[in-house]
Amino acid sequence: MNIKDYGFFYGTEILAAGAIPARIIAVHRGRYGIVSEYGEGSAQLKSREYYYEGETFPTVGDFVLIDHNTEGDSRIIKTLERKTFFSRRDPDKGRGEQAIAANFHVVFIIQSLNHDFNPKRLERYLTAARQSGAEPVIVLTKADLTDDYLPYYLEVSRVAEDVKCHIVSAKTGYGMEELYPYFENGKTLVFLGSSGVGKSSLVNALAGEEIMDTSGIREDDSKGRHTTTHRELIMLKCGAMIIDTPGMRELGMWDVTSGLGDAFSDVEEIVQKCKFRDCRHGSEPGCAVRAAIETGELDPARFESYMNLKREAKYSGDVTERRIQKTEFYKNVAMKKKNKNKVIY
Ligand code: GDP
Ligand code: ZN
Repeated sequence: MNIKDYGFFYGTEILAAGAIPARIIAVHRGRYGIVSEYGEGSAQLKSREYYYEGETFPTVGDFVLIDHNTEGDSRIIKTLERKTFFSRRDPDKGRGEQAIAANFHVVFIIQSLNHDFNPKRLERYLTAARQSGAEPVIVLTKADLTDDYLPYYLEVSRVAEDVKCHIVSAKTGYGMEELYPYFENGKTLVFLGSSGVGKSSLVNALAGEEIMDTSGIREDDSKGRHTTTHRELIMLKCGAMIIDTPGMRELGMWDVTSGLGDAFSDVEEIVQKCKFRDCRHGSEPGCAVRAAIETGELDPARFESYMNLKREAKYSGDVTERRIQKTEFYKNVAMKKKNKNKVIY
């Protein structure tokens, strides 16, 4: 096995003496499924580097350096710098980020052409995708369920004019060939979309094999198999790879703050022209937003989704903040109690 087949893109200068490059294909309770020139295996973090020296914890898709061990678990000694990644606020640590997938080239944003279609959610996914650094591609599935997809297509063009959009049906095969070019050798792909939109059907149809369970529950999850058989980064026959992790399915929790400007750069540009920096775009004089809406330059619906997303981003931040404060509060209470019970002689 050549690690380059798995998309290894670094120069040889990063290879410390004796270290073997590997890619993380699964994460399970502190153990990692890896693939290297020795094939698939399992590994653990080397304590000194990770727990004392603060090396970035690896996630699925990461390229790492290992001390290979033929007998048992190899030791991971370094996480190589990520080209792209998704992260969310770390639920265990309060502050801080937790990466949930790394080093993918394309993010397929999936919505189905029925009740799931939702431009607001699309915008949110786009924000997350752009934030990751990878190329977003919109895929509208279940084309067989609608007679007329032009309105959907136009809606997509409105929220994401510079993003490619494909209309497909995994059931009839309609439009599927348009997606083949993305499945290049050594490329890694991820899928974003609510459950039931047809992600698994799409992946299976494109891979030509049953990669994902279309009943919604992946066998691997329910049986909790060993790390080496439980794969979250899956190599397809065509040589492309897909990443499918539980974290990827929880998009709703993600912090979207920093990618906001990108998805709504046109709106932000207008907002910056308001006379007052704290303009609330109501009756303030010199409000560029109001002016742009009046002239038709800015779609009021688009402005509303911008504001919604902004509120949401702020809100998701506040939730974390509240949790931190709550923990601090209880810690203080516990401490005071302890001190109170202390008998001082
Ligand atoms: P996932 O949860 O996003 O992985 O969605 P699945 O692939 O499991 O599909 C959810 C449901 O939608 C299943 O009942 C599929 O049979 C159905 N489905 C998937 N793709 C299509 C499609 O192109 N057309 C139609 N009509 N149904 C589809
Ligand atoms: Zn304004």
